[in-house]
Amino acid sequence: MLESTGADIVHVDVMDGRFVPNITLGMPVVAAMRKVTSLPLDCHLMIMEPSRYALEFVAAGAAWVSVHQEADPHLHRTLDSIRKGGAKAGVALNPGTPVETLVDLIGDFDFVLLMSVNPGFGGQSFIPRIMDKTRRLDALRTERQTPFLIQVDGGVSQKNAAELVQAGADCLVAGNAVFKAPDPAEAIHQLQAMMRGNRKA
Ligand code: ZN
Repeated sequence: MLESTGADIVHVDVMDGRFVPNITLGMPVVAAMRKVTSLPLDCHLMIMEPSRYALEFVAAGAAWVSVHQEADPHLHRTLDSIRKGGAKAGVALNPGTPVETLVDLIGDFDFVLLMSVNPGFGGQSFIPRIMDKTRRLDALRTERQTPFLIQVDGGVSQKNAAELVQAGADCLVAGNAVFKAPDPAEAIHQLQAMMRGNRKA
């Protein structure tokens, strides 16, 4: 269904029961997904010590891998290893972690994932102040003249997609907005149309 509707990428939430309270899936499931779709797989590692597993997710077929700033004291090294492994490297930030914590890593990552709910469970409400955080991150990349993508994850829906894209978001991660919709394909098309119509020049 995701492929036939023209979804751009499949976001995979990996949770370890330590960094976040929930447990989801690991490398074997990603490898199984790799076999059934040609869409890029984007693995969001909500796990402690992500450096131990990041390359295993790349080997399992992830084209994008993000690790949490809060879970890794050696981000520079982990991001470098993901890139050398051949995947896009991202840093994920919990709602309470300021974008300014990434200033000295700009250029070392391909994307930043802003959590717009507290990580761990689907179906939570979007935290409105993430709009301002998205704008600040967008201003930071302009100021540093260094391109990277801004991804927003958590509570994204047709209610906030347009404003998020206007604020600078390039990738919207939608869970319930798609999978709990009466017509998931229509929901994907609506979100994509909102992205196209509101993209900054
Ligand atoms: Zn995620």
